[in-house]
Amino acid sequence: MARVLIIGAGGVGTVVAKKVAMNHEVFTDIMLASRTKSKCDKIAKEIEETLGGVKIQTASVDADKVPELCTLFRSFKPDLVINVALPYQDLTIMDACLECGVNYLDTANYEPLDEAKYQYSWQWAYRERFEKAGLTAILGCGFDPGVTSVFTAYAAKHHFDEIHYLDIVDCNGGDHHKAFATNFNPEINIREITQKGKYYLNGVWIETEPQEIHRPLHYPGIGVRESYLLYHEELESLVLNFPSIKRARFWMTFGEEYLTHLRVIQNIGMGSIEPINYNGMEIVPIQFLKAVLPNPQDLGSNYTGETSIGCRIRGVKDGKEHTYYIWNNCSHQAAFRETGMQGVSYTTGVPATVGALMFARGLWNKPGVHNVEEFDPDPFLEEVAKQGLPWHEHLDVDIEFEA
Ligand code: NDP
Repeated sequence: MARVLIIGAGGVGTVVAKKVAMNHEVFTDIMLASRTKSKCDKIAKEIEETLGGVKIQTASVDADKVPELCTLFRSFKPDLVINVALPYQDLTIMDACLECGVNYLDTANYEPLDEAKYQYSWQWAYRERFEKAGLTAILGCGFDPGVTSVFTAYAAKHHFDEIHYLDIVDCNGGDHHKAFATNFNPEINIREITQKGKYYLNGVWIETEPQEIHRPLHYPGIGVRESYLLYHEELESLVLNFPSIKRARFWMTFGEEYLTHLRVIQNIGMGSIEPINYNGMEIVPIQFLKAVLPNPQDLGSNYTGETSIGCRIRGVKDGKEHTYYIWNNCSHQAAFRETGMQGVSYTTGVPATVGALMFARGLWNKPGVHNVEEFDPDPFLEEVAKQGLPWHEHLDVDIEFEA
């Protein structure tokens, strides 16, 4: 029995709203709020039509403004806010949660608009205040971060005394049949991919040029794809929470066509987050670019193929070395049939819903600010498989664990 407020009505927000509504025996009162209320109304109408009259309330809110958020929180009185707006809103939503006594869950770490930094320090600074207020904040509950972090916790709990090497591998083996499009918010996506790469080795972070390190990796059900080392936020918390880790890296696949477009975008300055003056008006190039690129929410109907995301781990158990691979494959078409959204929105929205279910069932309640790997992985992984993301594991499997 929980009252849940979802903030953000984009691709991920759509999946969260639909999956939360499918679990309406737990989430008895649901509200979807975003900057543009008409988007929330459209999703609410689809839910009411497809789920036999499940009603969700809608509202407009500017989540950059704490007083506006507090007015909404005080009228709806949610137990939990699921933040699937943009990373820029994380801190204002957390501030409002503290002011109004509401628990919090998100899928991406806070980023200031003018700096792409990808670090948890801003949100970890709220730990004591959430603890004192007796409120739980669950950080990074999408797929990566999210399921990949829970996969690592599951491996540590069941298969290893010490994890030594962790490679998170993220392959989108799908085809949206567009020359260039991003799978989630283009501004956030391009900021992430064009920053320098970084990985963890023996206690230090090693920086690389963007896309400098790459190699072909094999993905189950998909085949071999060129995979590029990039920095991803879950590495920061995982190496702290599993201090036996000697090396942690994150790999993502990109096609040649995608990288060529990205190179051009950067070379002509369209990926810049610095505001420029255009005809007397201040614009941010990457925000203008977002406005002309395909909307990730419209990719679903023509998307074929699958995503495959998982963790490849090497470590020791009872003095013996073991390798381990745990992963999920998600079909873009199946995701679209169920929710009207493509696989990347689906693989983010389903874990966010499952995190909320864990909270509502009292399994992931721990006052303070926590990354998902700090909670018990077992009930989460059992539920995420039931909710649409079945996963597979192989112990002592012969896969790439190269130095
Ligand atoms: P979209 O751009 O599709 O949607 C973002 C939504 O947030 C929009 O509905 C937008 O409202 C709303 N929004 C933006 N600013 C505000 C504001 N100030 N106040 C209220 N609402 C606001 O993004 P996605 O759905 O693709 O991504 C959502 C989140 O999920 C992002 O934070 C992204 O980083 C994260 N993500 C996480 C992944 C993971 O695996 N962990 C993977 C993919 C995404 P409006 O439309 O009205 O402008």
